[in-house]
Amino acid sequence: MSDVYLDLANSGIGKKVFSALGLPEPVALVREDPQAPHQLSGSLLLGTSTGARFTDIITSLLQDTGVAMLRDAPMSARHLIFDASGIATADDSTQLYEFFHQYIANLDTCGRVIVVGLQPSSADNPEHASLQRGLHGFVKSLAKEIGRKGATANLLLVGSGGEIAIAAPIRFLLSGGSAFMNAQVLTTARAVASMDADWQRPLQDKTVVVTGAARGIGLAIAEVLTRDGARVIGVDVPQAEDELRSNMDRLKGLSLPLDITIEGADVKLCDYCLSLAPTLHGVVHNAGVTRDKMLSRMSEQQWTMLMQVNLGAVQRINAALLATDLLDDGGKIVGVASISGIAGNIGQTNYAFSKAAVIGVVENLAPLCAARGITINAVAPGFIETQMTAAIPFVTRQIGRRLSSLGQGGMPVDVAEVIGLFVSPQASGINGNVVRVCGQSLLGA
Ligand code: NAD
Repeated sequence: MSDVYLDLANSGIGKKVFSALGLPEPVALVREDPQAPHQLSGSLLLGTSTGARFTDIITSLLQDTGVAMLRDAPMSARHLIFDASGIATADDSTQLYEFFHQYIANLDTCGRVIVVGLQPSSADNPEHASLQRGLHGFVKSLAKEIGRKGATANLLLVGSGGEIAIAAPIRFLLSGGSAFMNAQVLTTARAVASMDADWQRPLQDKTVVVTGAARGIGLAIAEVLTRDGARVIGVDVPQAEDELRSNMDRLKGLSLPLDITIEGADVKLCDYCLSLAPTLHGVVHNAGVTRDKMLSRMSEQQWTMLMQVNLGAVQRINAALLATDLLDDGGKIVGVASISGIAGNIGQTNYAFSKAAVIGVVENLAPLCAARGITINAVAPGFIETQMTAAIPFVTRQIGRRLSSLGQGGMPVDVAEVIGLFVSPQASGINGNVVRVCGQSLLGA
C-alpha cells in the first residue's frame, strides 16, 4: 500500500509546501534491488578508540567490497563506523564524542552509522563492561538525531570468539538491506558452524521452508531467499493454494499447502522436506494472524486459534525438526515476533502474548541449538505495509507510520532482508538475537 504523505513529502512541490508549513519530511529510503545481490558502495570513515580490538579486522573485511575508505576530515561520508571496544573509562568516552561530533553533520542522506563494542562477558573488568553498556544509550539517541535524514545507527556487540563473525553483520548494516533496521543491537559469538559461502549467492543449493509464504512478508522472504540462491518451500493454508502456487512457481520454489495448526502438520512438513533431501538449511516461522479485541470482549476461540498459529505450530515444528538431524551443522531457525510482543498494544493481549513467547522460544532454545551447530534468531517487525496493516483505520494507520525515527512504515522486503542475514551461512556467529525491524518505533523503545 502506498504512503501518500511520504510520496508527497518527496515530490517537487510537496517538499516546498512541507518545508514552509514546518511538517515532518520523511526521506524515501534507499533499498537494494530485490533481484540483484547486495552491492556495497559509498565512502566510509572508520574511527577507533585507544586499545580497540576490531579496527584491523574491520579494515580488512572491507577490502574489495566497493566501499571507499576515507582519510580524515571528509566533506561528507555515506558510512561512519567507530570501533568503541577500547572505551573503558568515563574519560575514554570523549573519543566517541570527538569522532561523531566532528563527522555526524556530514553524514549523507540514508547514511549508516555502526558502533562496534563488546559484550559484557568479553570486557576486561566491570568498569570496562559498564562503559560498553553506555553504547546502547548513545546509539539509540544518535539514531533519533539522524533518522530524519533516512539514516540509521546500529550497535554491534562482539562476544568471546565473535570477532571472526563480524563480516556478515557489518556488510549487511552497510547495505540497503538494513534500510528500516534502526537503533538495534546485534551480537556475535563464536560461530556454531562453517561460515563458508559466496557473498553473492550465500544460499546456493540450500533449501529453506517459509511458512505463510503466499503473500505479504512471507512472500517477500521467499523472494529474498530465492535471490540469495535458496530453493524455497512455501507453506500456506489450503485456501491460499492458488496464490501460493503461482508465487512459488514464479520463484522456481515448491508449494506445500498445509494448515500448520492441524494435527500432524509438523510431521507432514518434516516428511515432505526429507522426501526432497536429507538435510534442510532453515525454517522461517512467518505465518501469523491477528484477532484484535479488548480482552473483556475477546472470545476464547480468538485466543486459542491465534495462539495455535503464532506459537503452538512454531513450537511443534521446532520440536519435530530438532527430533531429527535435518537441521544439524549449519541449520537456521528464524521466528517472526512483533514490537507488540515487546511494547504491548491495546486490543492485542492474545497477539502480544504469542509474539513475546516467540522471543522466549529464541532465548530458550539458543544454547541447545548452538550445541548442534544451529542458530535461532527472530525479527520483531514494527509497522510494515501489508494487507494486515492496510486493514487498520486511516488515522491510526497514518499515526502508526509516523511513530518511528524514519517517519514511515517499512516494506515487507525490509523484514525479509534481515531474515536473509540470519539465514545466511556467514551469520553462524549470530545466535539468540531478536532484532526489531521498525525504523526505531517509539513503541516499546
Ligand atoms: P499476512 O496476513 O499478509 O500473511 C500471513 C500469511 O500467513 C498468510 O498468507 C496466511 O494465509 C498465512 N497463514 C495464516 N495462518 C496459517 C496457518 N494456520 N497455516 C499456514 N499459513 C497460515 O501477514 P503479514 O503482515 O505478511 O505478517 C507476516 C508475519 O509478520 C506474521 O507473523 C505477523 O504477525 C508478523 N508481523 C507483521 C507486521 C505488519 O506490520 N504487517 C508487524 C509485526 C509482525
